[in-house]
Amino acid sequence: MNRSKLLLILIIAVIVGIFLGFDGHKLLTLENLQSHQASIGQWIDQNLALAVGGYAAIYVVVTALSLPGATIMTLAGGAFFGNLYGLAAVSIASTIGASLAFLVARFLMRDTLRRRYGETVAKMDRGIEKDGAFYLATLRLVPVFPFFLINLAMGLTAMKLRTYALVSWIAMLPGTFVYVNAGTQLGQIQSTGDIVSAELLLSFALLGLFPLIARFVVGFIRRRKLYAGWQKPGHFDYNLLVIGGGSAGLVSAYIAAAVKARVALIEKHKMGGDCLNTGCVPSKALIRSARAADTLRHANRYGLESVPVKGSFKNIMNRVRDVIAKVEPHDSPERYRALGVDCIAGEAGFVSPWELEVRHNDGRTERLTARSIVVATGGKPAVPPIPGLNDMQPLTSDNLWELQDQPERLLVLGGGPIGSELAHAFARLGSKVTQVEMGERLLAKEDVDVSELILKQFQADGVDVRLKHAAVEFRTEEGEKVAWCEHEGERVRIPFDQVLVAVGRTANTAGLNLKRIGIDTLPNGTVPVEEDMSLRYPNVFACGDVAGPYQFTHAAAHQAWYAAVNGLFGQFKRFKVDYRVMPWVTFTSPEVARVGLSEAEARAQGMAYEVTRYGLDDLDRAIAESEDHGFIKVLTPPGKDKILGAVVVGSHAGEILAEFTLAMKHGLGLNKILGTIHPYPTWNESAKYAAGEWKRAHAPEGILKLLEKLHGWRRGKGGNRPLKHKEVTTG
Ligand SMILES: Cc1cc2nc3c(=O)[nH]c(=O)nc-3n(C[C@H](O)[C@H](O)[C@H](O)COP(=O)(O)OP(=O)(O)OC[C@H]3O[C@@H](n4cnc5c(N)ncnc54)[C@H](O)[C@@H]3O)c2cc1C
Repeated sequence: MNRSKLLLILIIAVIVGIFLGFDGHKLLTLENLQSHQASIGQWIDQNLALAVGGYAAIYVVVTALSLPGATIMTLAGGAFFGNLYGLAAVSIASTIGASLAFLVARFLMRDTLRRRYGETVAKMDRGIEKDGAFYLATLRLVPVFPFFLINLAMGLTAMKLRTYALVSWIAMLPGTFVYVNAGTQLGQIQSTGDIVSAELLLSFALLGLFPLIARFVVGFIRRRKLYAGWQKPGHFDYNLLVIGGGSAGLVSAYIAAAVKARVALIEKHKMGGDCLNTGCVPSKALIRSARAADTLRHANRYGLESVPVKGSFKNIMNRVRDVIAKVEPHDSPERYRALGVDCIAGEAGFVSPWELEVRHNDGRTERLTARSIVVATGGKPAVPPIPGLNDMQPLTSDNLWELQDQPERLLVLGGGPIGSELAHAFARLGSKVTQVEMGERLLAKEDVDVSELILKQFQADGVDVRLKHAAVEFRTEEGEKVAWCEHEGERVRIPFDQVLVAVGRTANTAGLNLKRIGIDTLPNGTVPVEEDMSLRYPNVFACGDVAGPYQFTHAAAHQAWYAAVNGLFGQFKRFKVDYRVMPWVTFTSPEVARVGLSEAEARAQGMAYEVTRYGLDDLDRAIAESEDHGFIKVLTPPGKDKILGAVVVGSHAGEILAEFTLAMKHGLGLNKILGTIHPYPTWNESAKYAAGEWKRAHAPEGILKLLEKLHGWRRGKGGNRPLKHKEVTTG
């Protein structure tokens, strides 16, 4: 604990000590107040200014330090200053005191709580940011909640002091008035319990409902205002209209059809979207071929003769297209029609929050209405406005798959997951790859140790990684394509044959007419969704890459569930999207798989954590396959069996991660993984060994020492002495 906190605690302890030492708690009683009312009143008449100031100061101290006696002080306010001045003095002093108590609690406790319970505190903060004022008003209006507890509890949240003070002041007024008014009749009060009758408590409870009713009314008015100017159709063609037939749109439509809603899916290009046609599927097919090439090139690792890999690019790309064709039926219009979805080939844009205009691919245009609409239009590769780049006919993940000839020298812009996966694959297939990244490391969202391991592997596989290089210009110099980069104040020249741009993705919102229904995109191009995936209007939703923040197929599918269910049943119950356990994998070799917090994120959130590491070089299966490199890293709170995050870097990392993901999702700790039988020799045994490392580090040393002694004692006399080996001569 730092010195200023200690000093504050000391000051509080001294004031409380003085208060109790001088029997402050015994002085502030109803009997005392009644018996001294006349004499105190006389003194106040002669020293009004001093009396008001002193009274307010004592009131502030009593409430700020949560000392007993606030009720008596309030009665005194009425008794000595009357209804109006008493109410003014009490309400101002109590608000100042409550705000000080709130600040003290925040200063002393909030950091510690955030460190220990970062996730819970962050969740609480989100709730407070949204509805904190309503909660506080309810708590203040119902006098059964002790005020000092409210001060302390709210201080631990992220509520702004201004909001706290203002809401407290307003919401405490009714209660304060009742007590101040009672104070004006001090002589007739037998006990403080008389002041609030059962009827009065009931009226306060009803008053406490007021903020909730107000919230409902505000919500209702806000919705009315949102929809003002739009003519709601008398009936709808569909229950749900879905724009976009990628991962997010397909899942939304699937769910709607499964619960027998009438649903249409509008796709302007190819069903399956990016994942099937230009993303996950082709990239993983290419990566598999690259891995096979690497195995052939290094066949000597397995006791075979190494084979140089060349000249198969056309076949490889044909295989990639074959793989897409094989997966295609899963996402085909035929399959979805059979499931009950109307599949429409066309482009859709908004006419109103319930109506879309669909420009069919065959040239027709029609308007369709639905009670709810889901926007699932995905994203596309961003091409930065670097001078000369467009003249280089850059490759992106969109057009890469039509490539016929293998680039001899490939320049990859971007060190994120997509750039890294493709750079590595092309290098393993035999291209001379230069990978340029503006930042200090590859895969910057992962921890430094992860980036370092990947960098080493890339370099070993011949990728020329240029970190801290910013491409600033592209030119053709003497018939050769050249990228100029800025690197630590110098200009660096990089010649290449083809450039692949993988520097991020932008959301597809053009043509949707979002502006027409008053929806603006965020600065990063995605649309602003609420926790229920709704988009400005409670009946318009977005999911997948167009909504962010994750750009994964499984994230799109996860969000799609919320969009579809809230779209169909939101009038009865709305579900808030839950991102707590979101895994992802980058399919480099070795793979990088992560779920939950990284070390850097835990540090940034001020969370205390421990790291448990297990090296895959120790795993029998990895050794048997000559793939004994990489590690598992698990983050847990100090001394607690709870997984905060896990990263696996190695072969089959994506599969190994599944065990940690399941454990996190269902609140299972490392003890449970350790106690589970894992078949030998499997890659997943590594999860168990990582759990074993954690267990070893948390072995109960004291008990083990006692056990050692017990075993010595059980060996008999002298059992705890060091063992002397006795040689036996034979023959
Ligand atoms: C190279 C690469 C590799 C990837 N690898 C992985 C991976 O291994 N694992 C993973 O989880 N994710 C991966 N991703 C990300 C993944 O592909 C996306 O997160 C996922 O496809 C998003 O799905 P979506 O439905 O939001 O969008 P999309 O799949 O882009 O679908 C949107 C659809 O909407 C259509 N559309 C757009 N506008 C309109 C309109 N106005 N009217 C009608 N239709 C419209 C588009 O034509 C498109 O078909 C990868 C991405 C890339 C580029």
